[in-house]
Amino acid sequence: MRRVSQHRHGHQTRCGAGLAMKDFAYAAPTSLEQASRLAASRPDAMFVAGGTTVVDLMKEGVLAPNLLIDLNRLPLRDTVVSGGSIVVGTLVTMSALARHPAIRSRFPMLAEALLAGASGQLRNMATVGGNLLQRTRCPYLRDLSVPCNKRVPGSGCQAIGGIDRFHAVLGTTDRCIAVYPSDAATALTALDAVVVVHRNGRSRRVPLTELHLAPAVAARETILEQGDVITGIVLRDVPEARRASYVKVRDRATYAFGLASAAAGLDLDDDGRTIRSARIALGNIATRPWRATAAEAVLAGAQATRSAYEDAAEAALAGAVAGRRNGYKIGLAKGALVRALETAASRP
Ligand code: SF4
Repeated sequence: MRRVSQHRHGHQTRCGAGLAMKDFAYAAPTSLEQASRLAASRPDAMFVAGGTTVVDLMKEGVLAPNLLIDLNRLPLRDTVVSGGSIVVGTLVTMSALARHPAIRSRFPMLAEALLAGASGQLRNMATVGGNLLQRTRCPYLRDLSVPCNKRVPGSGCQAIGGIDRFHAVLGTTDRCIAVYPSDAATALTALDAVVVVHRNGRSRRVPLTELHLAPAVAARETILEQGDVITGIVLRDVPEARRASYVKVRDRATYAFGLASAAAGLDLDDDGRTIRSARIALGNIATRPWRATAAEAVLAGAQATRSAYEDAAEAALAGAVAGRRNGYKIGLAKGALVRALETAASRP
């Protein structure tokens, strides 16, 4: 492992907001075990991979680790296809995964979700592991002059009763209404993906649906503890994976925050008209990856018609709670889901 650098990274650096970036040390371990143990021994350390979230937030003064542990020297860049499953290394970039032949042919909703995220340049840098752990785009998180429970636990939430046009309508609490923004995680949630987590010489598997926590007073957003390293994501073939689609709605067609999105997959009977089973997850409208099991239940055994899709969309959004300016998202999400289901059903 490289020794922790004594160089002062960020020394006298100033970001656009005029804030000085805090000095920090830097380490680039070459083994998983070194990375995990170093992080576990340093509560003030953070991992960095693509850097597209962490470095941004450090520049803005939202994150201020004393030690940055760079994971890029770890051998976690492979996508391994074996039989009915695929294991994606955590350092695989969004771009690389989106163009992987097995992902495009066997998990099209994931390829589409990956390409719907960020911009081409960011997708070339951002890793899939980091993508799952990306922070919310709530503007108040980045505004150090206002309260934010995610930034300063217990300080309050400026978005509740504030400008909430981009905020969540599902999974909100009186602590936080911020949207969890990952498109890839939305598709992976629909596909029941599993995350492999390493710590102190041991690996464990965590269903993606259990990785993220509901918003609470504490800033903690996932079940991960200091020293836990996501090493990969496991996908397995499911009958709904191929006849599938991801639809994202935003203010402009690229490089804009999502307003609502839907991942949908269908397994149709041999007649091509009856739905055996469905997989549905919603994105950009909830505080964490959101599986829509009620909508899936509506579709199981139904005819593959627009009317059935609309019924499923009603079920998916039945528990939505709007704030002052984000009520439009409910209808938008219903429309995205209906379109995702229509597209999925039209595929061979
Ligand atoms: Fe902070 Fe969440 Fe409130 Fe945004 S919605 S200000 S992230 S607590």
